[in-house]
Amino acid sequence: MADCIFCKIASKEIPSKVVYEDDCMMAFHDIEPQAPTHVVVIPKEHIASLDEISKEHKNLLGHILLCIKDIAKALDLKEGYRIVSNCGALGGQTVGHIHFHLLGGRQLQWPPG
Ligand code: 5GP
Ligand code: ZN
Repeated sequence: MADCIFCKIASKEIPSKVVYEDDCMMAFHDIEPQAPTHVVVIPKEHIASLDEISKEHKNLLGHILLCIKDIAKALDLKEGYRIVSNCGALGGQTVGHIHFHLLGGRQLQWPPG
């Protein structure tokens, strides 16, 4: 996708601090961290949001979740963490490429704002 920030991060056109990468996904530190650990996890394929997924993405999304568990372990988030995927305007999504926030390193509050 030509004008997508996260596609550009996936292709390394925009640099990021990568914590994990394989052929289909990438995890990198958020530029504006909301917690001591704040990593953004994306598929390399451009999918606009959680609302755009279909059955063909089942393996990809399962793979991403399994990797998130390992990334959390590698980042030493053994006391807990949170995964968030903001979807659409009211969900607070600002980048139109599906992503999962991995947040940890402090006590997270509930409900979110
Ligand atoms: P959203 O608001 O869509 O749920 O999450 C988008 C996230 O991407 C935000 O937390 C924002 O700080 C992060 N972000 C936006 N642009 C960049 C960038 O160029 N580099 C990195 N590392 N993070 C970004
Ligand atoms: Zn994209």
